[in-house]
Amino acid sequence: MKVTVVASTRISEDRWDDQGSAFPVQTSPEFDVLGDDPSRPVTDADELAEFAGRACYKSWSKPNPATAANSDYMRHILRQGHFSVLEHASVTFYVEGVSRALLLELERHRFLSFSVESQRYVDTEKHHPEPVLPPAIAAGSSAAGLVRDAYAFALNDYRILVQHLGGQGLKRKEAREAARAVLPNATPVDFLVTGNLRAWRDVLGKRWHEAADAEIRELAGLILGHLRALAPGAVQDVPRTPFAY
Ligand SMILES: Cc1cc2nc3c(=O)[nH]c(=O)nc-3n(C[C@H](O)[C@H](O)[C@H](O)COP(=O)(O)OP(=O)(O)OC[C@H]3O[C@@H](n4cnc5c(N)ncnc54)[C@H](O)[C@@H]3O)c2cc1C
Repeated sequence: MKVTVVASTRISEDRWDDQGSAFPVQTSPEFDVLGDDPSRPVTDADELAEFAGRACYKSWSKPNPATAANSDYMRHILRQGHFSVLEHASVTFYVEGVSRALLLELERHRFLSFSVESQRYVDTEKHHPEPVLPPAIAAGSSAAGLVRDAYAFALNDYRILVQHLGGQGLKRKEAREAARAVLPNATPVDFLVTGNLRAWRDVLGKRWHEAADAEIRELAGLILGHLRALAPGAVQDVPRTPFAY
């Protein structure tokens, strides 16, 4: 599984021209607790959320010292449930080498946007010769052998079907769309997915959770790691280990 940040919201250089100064360097002790670098400047995603919150009250001068630092302001926002300010910044990930089973679960989160590799246009046999092993199945184990054998069997049938249907005059796209009927849940898929910070927090609440499927929990952990770098203030209340009941 590979999760790459492809894009994230950046703030315009002249963001504070009307208001005076940029935000100060992050100094909240909470970031020590979370293992973040306290000297790291406030990220654009967190800054944008604070900008959005301050725009509501025109509190540009940061009159309350308790929320003058960005992490403190963000903590206040999270406690208040003023979540709409988290909708302005978004992060796009390119996710590679996860199973179709995982994609089905992730797509249930209706505020995420997807661009998914097409099984009609892309030759599965060529691009995904190996299955995705569930985290519970160790590579090299006999269980992994079973999954690999089943996948190889399915790919073989897939190839036969594509050839057979192509021989009957179907276009390649049409042959693949029919032949994919034999591909299993373990078939890999690559996709681009975008969510705003509020949407990602919602995903983390459900999938960075001990009740979640192990593979999607692994994905959630990788996404959380990226968000800790891109928007530490917005995920400061998310635990380092998965949520528990
Ligand atoms: C451990 C686990 C097991 C699951 N098992 C199953 C299963 O067996 N079968 C199955 O089908 N699904 C299952 N799901 C998927 C689950 O039911 C949700 O579809 C998925 O978690 C996305 O959640 P959501 O709908 O809250 O998210 P989103 O679609 O991202 O919505 C986010 C939030 O927006 C609000 N919202 C969105 N749409 C509406 C609406 N139409 N009306 C009112 N409020 C709305 C809600 O507050 C919602 O929580 C499982 C999920 C988890 C985490």
